Order: sequence, then C-alpha cells, then structure tokens
Amino acid sequence: MTRRVPVVEKITKANDRLADANRALLAQHGLASLNLMSSPGAGKTTLVEKTVAGLTGRYRLGVVEGDMVTSLDADRAAAAGAVSVQINTGGSCHLDAGMVGDALAQLPLGEIDLLFVENVGNLICPASFDLGTEAKVVMASVPEGDDKPFKYPTMYRGVDVLLLNKVDLIPHVSFDLDRFRQGVEALNEDLTVLPLSCQTGEGLEAWFDWIAGRIERARAAS
Ligand code: MG
Ligand code: ZN
Repeated sequence: MTRRVPVVEKITKANDRLADANRALLAQHGLASLNLMSSPGAGKTTLVEKTVAGLTGRYRLGVVEGDMVTSLDADRAAAAGAVSVQINTGGSCHLDAGMVGDALAQLPLGEIDLLFVENVGNLICPASFDLGTEAKVVMASVPEGDDKPFKYPTMYRGVDVLLLNKVDLIPHVSFDLDRFRQGVEALNEDLTVLPLSCQTGEGLEAWFDWIAGRIERARAAS
C-alpha cells in the first residue's frame, strides 16, 4: 500500500512537465486556451458549436475534442467552422497533457486566437490533470441537480468560470438555483457563474464577452 503514493506522484509530475511545455507553446503564440470539463451530457459539444458560430468573424477557434472513442464531436466542431482535432483516449476517462501536446502539433497555432479543449465527460479525474491551458471551465447543467458542487468539490474549487447550462429547464425540474449557488460559493467564493441555455441562446452573449476578455488578455501578454 505504501508504494501507491509515489507512483501517483510520479505520474502527476510527468504530466505537469508536459503541461508546462503546452503552456509555454500557447503563450508563445499569444493564445487564450480553455479546458472545458463537465459530466457526460451537460452540453459541452453543443456549447463548442454555439461558441464557434457566435465568434465567427471576430475570432478564429481551434478545438481539441477528447473522447474515449469516435470522432463525432470533432466532426461537429469542424462543421461549425473550427479547426478541430480529435483525441481518442482509448480506455482513459480523462485527457492528459501529453495527449493535448500531440494535438497541438497538428493545429495551425499561428492562425487561431482561442484554443478550446473539450475534456472527456467526467467530473472526477480531469480535475487532477493540468493540460497547460490558461483557464479551466466547468459546465454544470440543470437536469444533473443542484447538489453537484457538494458532491464534486475538487472540480468546483479549481476552475476559473462556471457555466450553468439548460437554465430553460428550471421551470420543469426540481432545481434550486440558490442552493446550487450556495454550494459553489462555499467552495470557490469569487467564481464567476454564467447561467445560460445553448438551446434558447439565453446567456450566451455574456459567455462570449468573457471569452473575448481572455483572448485580449492573452494577446496583450505575448
Ligand atoms: Mg462532447
Ligand atoms: Zn480518468
């Protein structure tokens, strides 16, 4: 049993070195970059599609899609107008920095303004693997219930912005927005919470503004 901790530390350290390399490469190109995490079915790929469509003409997006199998999500991102790369993780339930580094080598980094990494749908281990992106985004959705911050504290503590998707369903399901917000505040007091609906388009402008701020900041820093 005592051998387990060193092995985990070794994996994490190797990942952190590769994440630092990704971070340096992204910074060199003045790129904003987001690691988008959520449970399966929260609406990550639909958000990617809406974001690509909403920012077309203003900014160019590159998308890295992580899934265990298939290229369905990368195909959707490409159809929406992004340059996209699919990573199939095989059996792994999260992306790691090495996989993202391989994807970066396939993207025209000089021609894009924002890199969107859609992680594998999972609220647990993606929180432990730094990918080298400059921001982490967690997406929750109304049908999952208002107790998610209480059940997945690590995920909610380590992120820069929280998207609450499918708010158009609040009248139809039992979801207490105040309870949800209290759970978030207890873990991450200053976290920006953006309620939205990819279905109706409500709240998407605020999300686009948040992204535009990150893009301008990344440009100014390079
Ligand atoms: Mg997806
Ligand atoms: Zn995993």
